[in-house]
Amino acid sequence: MDNLMDKIISLAKRRGFIFPSSEIYGGLSGVWDYGPLGVELKNNIKREYWKEMISKNENVFGIDAAIFMNPKVWEASGHLKSFTDPLIECKTCHSRLRADHKDLILEHENYHKKRNEKVSWTEPKKFNLLVEAYLGVVEGEKSKVFLRGEITQGVHVNFLNFLYTMSPKLPFGVIQIGKAFRNEITPSNFTFRSREFEQMELQFYVEPDKKKSLEWLEYFKKQRLNWYINLGIKKENLRFRKHKKNELAHYALEAWDIEYNSPFGGWKEMEGIHHRGNWDLSEHSKYSGKELSYFDTKNNKRFIPYVIETSGGLDRAFLFLLIDSYFEDKNRTVLKLHPKLSPYKAAIFPLLANKKQLVSLALRVYKKLKPYFMVAWDDRGNIGKRYYSQDEIGTPYCLTIDFDSLKNKDVTVRDRNTMRQIRIKIDKLIEYLDKKINK
Ligand code: ATP
Repeated sequence: MDNLMDKIISLAKRRGFIFPSSEIYGGLSGVWDYGPLGVELKNNIKREYWKEMISKNENVFGIDAAIFMNPKVWEASGHLKSFTDPLIECKTCHSRLRADHKDLILEHENYHKKRNEKVSWTEPKKFNLLVEAYLGVVEGEKSKVFLRGEITQGVHVNFLNFLYTMSPKLPFGVIQIGKAFRNEITPSNFTFRSREFEQMELQFYVEPDKKKSLEWLEYFKKQRLNWYINLGIKKENLRFRKHKKNELAHYALEAWDIEYNSPFGGWKEMEGIHHRGNWDLSEHSKYSGKELSYFDTKNNKRFIPYVIETSGGLDRAFLFLLIDSYFEDKNRTVLKLHPKLSPYKAAIFPLLANKKQLVSLALRVYKKLKPYFMVAWDDRGNIGKRYYSQDEIGTPYCLTIDFDSLKNKDVTVRDRNTMRQIRIKIDKLIEYLDKKINK
C-alpha cells in the first residue's frame, strides 16, 4: 500500500495539489504548500463544510478568530500544563519519536536491525506541543505568545460577544475553519501529521443536562459521518471509536473519533466528536474574572452550558478524499472526486488547435462558462492525452468542440467516470453542468 501513497504524493506534486514548503531551500519538515489545484479542492471542502453546518442546523453561525491570543488563554485551557506528548530518543542515532507511535518505533528499530545496529531508547519525556512566537519591536521587551495549538479556544473566549451580538437562544453553535500549529515530534505520512494544519470545528452550546447533551452528541456523530460519506469517502473506510475511560479528559462525559482506514497503518483519527462538559467556559470564567454563563429567561435560571465539539482536520479530509477517489484503469489514472470538490468542473478542447473556426467557437464556450464554473482550457496534443490529463486531476466533464459543433451549435460532453459521450447544445451547457455538479 506504500506504493499507493507514493503515487498519491507524486500526483499531488506533479499536478499542483501539494508542494513541500519552501522546497528550493530543502523544505521544512511537517509543513506543506497547497498549489493551484490544491487550493481549489481545499476551498471547495471548506465551502461544503460551511454550507452543511450552517444550513442544515438551526442556530449555528461562524467566526474567524485570530491565531495569536493572550497567553493567559493557554494557561486557562490547560494547554501550557498538559498539551504534551511523551517523547523518546533513539540512543544510536538520536532520532526522536512519540512513545505512543508504536508503528514508527518498530519501523525505526527495523532500520537499525538491518544495519546490524543495536537500538535502545531513553525514558519518555514530556514535550509541549505549543509553538512559541515573540511579539513586539524592542529587543528584550518582546513578549512571548503562542501560535494557537487548536482553534477551539478562539470560540469560547468570545462567548459573551456571541450573546451580546446575536442574542442566541440555547442550544446554539459556532463554527470556525482555520490554522492550528503543533510542534509535532514526528510529522509523518505526507500531510496527515503536519506542524501547520487547518481544523474545521463546531462548538455547540447546550443545556447542562446529561441526557439531552448526549442526544446532541449522537446527532452530530451522525451528521459528521454522513458528510464525509456524501463527499466521497468510502463507507467501509470509516468507523467510530469510543474513547476508553482512561483516555477521557476528566471533564468529558463521552468522546468519539471518526477514524479512517488509511493505507499507512490502518485506522487513524480524522475527526473528534467530544462532550467537553462546561470545562472551557468555567476555566475561562475563573482565569478572566468574567462570568461566562447563560441566562435562561424561560426558566429564570443562570448556568454555564455544556459544549459538544466536532473537530475535524481539513488536511486529513483532503488527503483521505484524494486516496479514496484515486483509481487506475488499464490506461488511465482517475481522481473520481465528487464534482462539487473537483478543482475544475469542466475542460474545454477545440478538436484541432490549428483550425481557426474550432478554436474560436471553443473560446466562446470557454468564456461563456468561466463566470459560472472553474473551467480549464487545453489545446495541446491529441484528445486522448487531454482526457488523460483531466482524468488525473478529477475534472468531471470534458467538452470537445468539433466540426459538427460548427453546424449544430453543440459540443460533446464526456463523463469522467463512465467515459460516455453525449452532445449538448451550447446554450444548454450552463444549465446541464449546474444540474450535474450540484445534484
Ligand atoms: P492525533 O491523536 O492524531 O495527534 P489529536 O487527538 O491530537 O490527533 P485533536 O486535538 O482532537 O487531534 O484535533 C482535532 C483534529 O485536528 C484531529 O481529528 C485531526 O483531524 C486534526 N489534527 C490534529 N493534529 C493534526 C496534525 N498534526 N496534522 C494534521 N491534522 C491534525
